[in-house]
Amino acid sequence: MKQLNNIKQLNTGSLINNIKPRSLIISMSFTLLILTPVLIVKPNILLAERFFPGTGLIEIILLVIYAGWLSQVMINAKNISNIRTKYWFFFSVVFFTQFALGLFVNDNFLMTGELHLPIPALIVAAPVYRGEGFFMPILLISTLALGGPAWCSSFCYIGSWDNLASLKRRPKKVNRKQTIIIRYLMIVLVVLVALILRYAGASLTVVIFFALAFGLFGVFIMLYFSRKLGYMLHCTTYCPVGGVVTLLSKLYPVRMKIDLDTCTSCNICTTHCKYDALSSDDIKSGKAGWNCTLCGDCITSCHASSISFSFFGMKKDVWEIYMAIIVGLHAAFLALARL
Ligand code: SF4
Ligand code: SF4
Ligand code: SF4
Repeated sequence: MKQLNNIKQLNTGSLINNIKPRSLIISMSFTLLILTPVLIVKPNILLAERFFPGTGLIEIILLVIYAGWLSQVMINAKNISNIRTKYWFFFSVVFFTQFALGLFVNDNFLMTGELHLPIPALIVAAPVYRGEGFFMPILLISTLALGGPAWCSSFCYIGSWDNLASLKRRPKKVNRKQTIIIRYLMIVLVVLVALILRYAGASLTVVIFFALAFGLFGVFIMLYFSRKLGYMLHCTTYCPVGGVVTLLSKLYPVRMKIDLDTCTSCNICTTHCKYDALSSDDIKSGKAGWNCTLCGDCITSCHASSISFSFFGMKKDVWEIYMAIIVGLHAAFLALARL
């Protein structure tokens, strides 16, 4: 019922009456600022240009309008998690539909015309194995610079699956120390295997076998463990990119904060965090734990409005501006993210 109410928000006039110009402008500008240089420098990256030359601008305008609309849905949402889950999954569907069409229908749907495997771990492993091919790591770092850890809560085509797998249940308590240690051991393991395969001169078939086995085991972790535990075990322990994202995002200046003066210690928000970043100890400390991806789900879960985002200590409007940036990036990703 709650979900239905949120969907209704997308359709009713209440959205028009509650337009927040700031988030509207930020989201639309972000999409425009990212996609316009693409249109000028490499228009063929845009799908519309590939199939109907000269129509790239129309694709950009549609995505800018979408960004503006989504920013208003988000800012007015009573349950951010519900909307975020939907647009994140939408992104994943667009991504994998293009991938399937590229494979089976027309290679114009692929970014380069060459086949790459859609496994996030390869962002770390592939450049180590090849000693070249730094496009994805550069894209990841650029996205982290603009949106911080939102890579793992809004942009990654696989992370959306782990989110969905964990949705049905309330998160069970896990041993955070252990999961964080495993997560960083996974980075070491993946880099080591990539180095061994490289220096052993492993054939492409063997490399693809390892990559596919890693990816499929990840899907098993989502379907079994994340579903059972009600929290994103795949993303918080198994995927090496998640560990890199969390580590680098500590350089990003936005933080989640809890106002201890108004917090009633009800612990309701802890049941809304799928990243094990919000325990009762975190609440007492007034901030999120190590794994926080700034997803924002806890914000609308708090009846006392005690949770906010801060930027160098400032809290006013930070959540709204941050969310608008993420929405703008998401819309631009819809045009750019293809294999
Ligand atoms: S942890 Fe890995 S799979 Fe999960 S969202 Fe981040 S990059 Fe994607
Ligand atoms: S603490 Fe809040 S913002 Fe951070 S990951 Fe958990 S729910 Fe998301
Ligand atoms: S939901 Fe709000 S009031 Fe309750 S523990 Fe969390 S921050 Fe405090």
